[in-house]
Amino acid sequence: MVNGHDVVCWPVRAKVHSHTSMKIPQFKLNFDHAAIVVAHPDDEILWFSSILKKVSKIVVCFLNVKSNPQWSEGRRRSLSEYPLKNIQNLGFDESGVFNDRNWYDVEPVQCGIKIKNEDDAYTIYLKNFEMLQKSLCSALEGCQDVFTHNPWGEYGHEEHVQVFKAVEVLQVKLGYNIWHSNYCSNKSIKLMTSLIADQNSSYFTLKTDAETEKIIEDIYKKNGCWTWYDDWECFSEESFIKYGHVDQPYRYGHNFPINIINVDIPKRNKKTIRDRLVIKIKKYVRNKSS
Ligand SMILES: [Zn+2]
Repeated sequence: MVNGHDVVCWPVRAKVHSHTSMKIPQFKLNFDHAAIVVAHPDDEILWFSSILKKVSKIVVCFLNVKSNPQWSEGRRRSLSEYPLKNIQNLGFDESGVFNDRNWYDVEPVQCGIKIKNEDDAYTIYLKNFEMLQKSLCSALEGCQDVFTHNPWGEYGHEEHVQVFKAVEVLQVKLGYNIWHSNYCSNKSIKLMTSLIADQNSSYFTLKTDAETEKIIEDIYKKNGCWTWYDDWECFSEESFIKYGHVDQPYRYGHNFPINIINVDIPKRNKKTIRDRLVIKIKKYVRNKSS
């Protein structure tokens, strides 16, 4: 009471569901039929170190980088001396669509992210989506839980989103649970916030395995194919969110913890008139031949 009046604070009543988060106790999780699926060699330690030694299988989708043969060879060497023997590489060529467009107006589509420049990289990106589904369909047979990239591609990588989409498509046929990581960045946060409102927010949190992360990071560095920051220090904990839509149209309150990273957001190079013309001709030829 203040001066004889009721004190009313704003907001008077927050709209909060009776159970606004569903943290799952660790002991209920069984990793015997669980797999990690990542786009690139090193993603498995950056976003999944806490479960690296728990899962029965680690699947890495891409290997070759046409613009950087040193990375391709370094990745081959790294995988041959990898300390965990349950790792499988599908050996696909990277499409090269990274940082195709401004991530402030990015748009998810069936094969990943809508690509603005329909050039050769885009053609490979489309083809990769088909091939990923075929290869992952046999690689993930019998899995009950699949841990993979999140729908916003962690810090904002088009191929991370594509791998998530392939895993999502196959869920209908193979019937596994999908768990995605909780990493995000200043580049991908807008996409994340547009996606999480009607998503499931059941999750669990584990301590990261900094020791194993460092051992494998050093292998990639020794072989000249470490693609992340040299002075990277992993978060102390990471969470995995169970993917799926919920019945409620909107969720208020506690959703899930986020590990947010600060990255450079490069400006997209403006195409010359000649570049645009070449892209239009290629698109025309592609449409004619299909
Ligand atoms: Zn990656």
